[in-house]
Amino acid sequence: MPELIEVELYREAATRAANRTVSSVSISTQKYLKEGTLLTDLQTAVCGSQLVSARRTGKLLLLEIGTAVIGVRFGMTGRLMVDGEATINGLLYTTSEVKQEHIRFVMNFDGGGTLAVVDPRSFGNVELNPDETSLGPDAMHISNENLDRLFTGSRATVKGVLLDQTKISGIGNLLCDEILWRSGLSPTRAGDSLNAEEIERVHRIIRSTIGLLTKRGGSHMGDLQSERHRNGVCPTDGTQLEQTKVAGRTSWWCPEHQL
Ligand SMILES: [Zn+2]
Repeated sequence: MPELIEVELYREAATRAANRTVSSVSISTQKYLKEGTLLTDLQTAVCGSQLVSARRTGKLLLLEIGTAVIGVRFGMTGRLMVDGEATINGLLYTTSEVKQEHIRFVMNFDGGGTLAVVDPRSFGNVELNPDETSLGPDAMHISNENLDRLFTGSRATVKGVLLDQTKISGIGNLLCDEILWRSGLSPTRAGDSLNAEEIERVHRIIRSTIGLLTKRGGSHMGDLQSERHRNGVCPTDGTQLEQTKVAGRTSWWCPEHQL
């Protein structure tokens, strides 16, 4: 959290500030700038320029300001606020309350209005002109052929492939477990053990799950969510879920129908 779904909502919120001119930029601590980005460089690059547009690749929000691009990563608890209004109130692992000390980054505009990042646990960061080539295609737009290439010959687990942001971007832990549960695939399967029909199924379910959870309001709105605990059961067949560490992440899955 936040995953692709949340960052897309942040992107939509950021477009409300389009065509405004940046008057000043501030951060709570240099640590919130990604290594290599200096506040003075950031200020020089954007102050006096207009916010042209807001884009997104995976979980990375990209603000085009004049000729510069500011990349914002939201870590585990980051939220975007536009004009003092928080975008999402129901994020897991964080409170909806906004405390002044949790505001990490603020961009002020001529004539008023702000774009700010509130991030209680401070795992996110801001970067000037981020390298976008290190990210795989966005999960919402990846082609079946591309997904096929990712799995074929991969020694990583299915879950490991889907969480690898350099291969496919935007899927986090909650969305991944929900997608695999809906696909009937074990997270521990080797990537290259998937056949063409299974890959096509995952491709279809990635898109439908993102669409559905976006409508419901976030990546924590999956059907598996309320059962992600000890003694939790599969919502379709009632089998007790397994909890397994896969690709370094706690994974909940059904040993009955996820094969
Ligand atoms: Zn099941």
